Amino acid sequence: MDQSFLEHFENLIDQMVDYEHYSREKMLIVLRDTARYFHLTRVETEFYKNATDEKDGIGEITRDFDEGPADKVALHKRLVSKSGAIIAGTAYMAQDTEPLDEKQLRRLDLCLRSMLALLSRNRMQNAIEQLAYHDMDGYPNFPYYYRYLERLNENGGFKDQIAMMFNIRQFSIINRDLGPAAGDKIMHGYFDAINEMIGDKGCVCHVGGDNFAAIFSAELLEPMKKAMNGLPVKYSGNDQVMVSACAGVFIIPPDFVFNRPADIAEMIFPACQAAKLEKDGRIVYANKKIVEEKENTSRVRRYFENALEKQDFQAYYQPKVDVQNGKLIGAEALCRWIKNGEVVPPAQFIPVLEQNTDICKLDFYILEQVCKNIHRWLSEGRNVVRISVNLSRKHLLNPNLLEDIVRIIDRNKVPYKYIEIELTESTTEADFKKMQRLVDGLQEIGISTAVDDFGTGYSSLRLVRELPWKVIKIDRSLLPGENENKKMSTLVFSHIAALAKDMGIECITEGVETAEQIELLRSNDCPFAQGFFYDKPLPLEEFEKRLDIGKY
Ligand code: C2E
Ligand code: MG
Ligand code: MG
Repeated sequence: MDQSFLEHFENLIDQMVDYEHYSREKMLIVLRDTARYFHLTRVETEFYKNATDEKDGIGEITRDFDEGPADKVALHKRLVSKSGAIIAGTAYMAQDTEPLDEKQLRRLDLCLRSMLALLSRNRMQNAIEQLAYHDMDGYPNFPYYYRYLERLNENGGFKDQIAMMFNIRQFSIINRDLGPAAGDKIMHGYFDAINEMIGDKGCVCHVGGDNFAAIFSAELLEPMKKAMNGLPVKYSGNDQVMVSACAGVFIIPPDFVFNRPADIAEMIFPACQAAKLEKDGRIVYANKKIVEEKENTSRVRRYFENALEKQDFQAYYQPKVDVQNGKLIGAEALCRWIKNGEVVPPAQFIPVLEQNTDICKLDFYILEQVCKNIHRWLSEGRNVVRISVNLSRKHLLNPNLLEDIVRIIDRNKVPYKYIEIELTESTTEADFKKMQRLVDGLQEIGISTAVDDFGTGYSSLRLVRELPWKVIKIDRSLLPGENENKKMSTLVFSHIAALAKDMGIECITEGVETAEQIELLRSNDCPFAQGFFYDKPLPLEEFEKRLDIGKY
């Protein structure tokens, strides 16, 4: 008899200490054996989050053992955890069963309490798990995704798997138009639909905001693409909206080496970012280029301050020429990063610096460099022309922008007529107002302003109508190209040049490469050109030679 009790108790303890392999099924077997040993007919456990819930009867009651009439209570045990949660257990017997003697009762007490402790620990673990791996609404979160990837790696790997990050398109508009409550419903509805599609062939997680990460087997790619293109989602009664998403997709190759979950995140995250930026782009496939771009971004961020200190940024100067007489009439300062003797073009670092306000530091640095050179040229008695400097739109955040520009020019004692500020159009109304103030202010003190890239979609007619620009720079994309309707593009070009002329705004065309294009400018009243036809952007000493000649 004693021997057999010890066996049961041992089993129970075994279960308690085996954290790794705890399973509810095994636990139920131990419970059944123990209950039979004590001639019990039923064992019930109750779980309440707190005493109030217990009083109100809001909790979970499970009948883990039920093998006969539960006529009388053999033992009832109630434990309160440190956090205030309550777990209780009740063991029942049939009426005609002999009551347990004191010793037996003590043993049952021991068993029941051990069992309750084990159950409550397990519940706790579940709760912690739920908290750590799910968001506030109970949806699996980013840690869940990472853990899923790790487990997948341990159990069979990533063969024929596709990882994907997606972002609901225009979710802010959905939220704005239908309200946040409907927005939440729609987001969850979309998630649920995708979750159902994936089923047990992968997982999808909510990784913050309206972003999601998923991994699934390759056969689901086509349906998933359809879901990204649009799914109807109900949000109230029969009201529904089409929800679509842009996605970064990584088709995991057979030779993929997985060291850590971030290896996958680092592929799908930038691809999804790229998908978001593309105008109609819905799906961008993660590839080497995207990863390289990401690496470039972090490299630029890392080295920027240091490069600025080391004076690795140089202004190159691209001449601006009067097309009628070939006279050098100005130049644009274009930034180059001289890195270990190599010349890095702005496309590789300016977009990165524009993601925060680092670009403003660089622009002022270039303006300062330009001013210093103009000052020197003047003191050397050289023939100086107006130099334009590009200012990023990011500067519009600076309430003292005008003063800051003027301070740099003044401290280098440069007459205002030698400086021109190039700006591209702002996208919002607030920016438009700020730009208006800046252009007005510069115009008032005689610093000329140019609207850059005119005609690229970033410049509108309103911009030239309402702001006192000195110069319009027609973008090279408006020059008639080889493979297009020359007649139409020539027409557009000539009208823009005429518009500038009629408004009394100086007009220059950028990116002029051929004699034919120069002829087009001449015959259409666009007096100035900048482009490879005359020169590429030149390093300082080269440009100084052009300054001295002054003519093409
Ligand atoms: P952007 O201000 O429109 O400058 C004109 C760009 O066209 C320059 O590219 C120039 O090299 C290029 N270009 C000039 N002539 C020709 C031509 O005949 N054919 C072709 N295909 N291209 C020509 P770059 O120097 O690579 O600069 C690109 C852009 O980077 C600039 O466009 C400007 O938006 C930005 N950028 C350059 N330097 C600065 C800077 O110091 N500050 C800021 N904020 N932006 C800068
Ligand atoms: Mg420019
Ligand atoms: Mg331009």
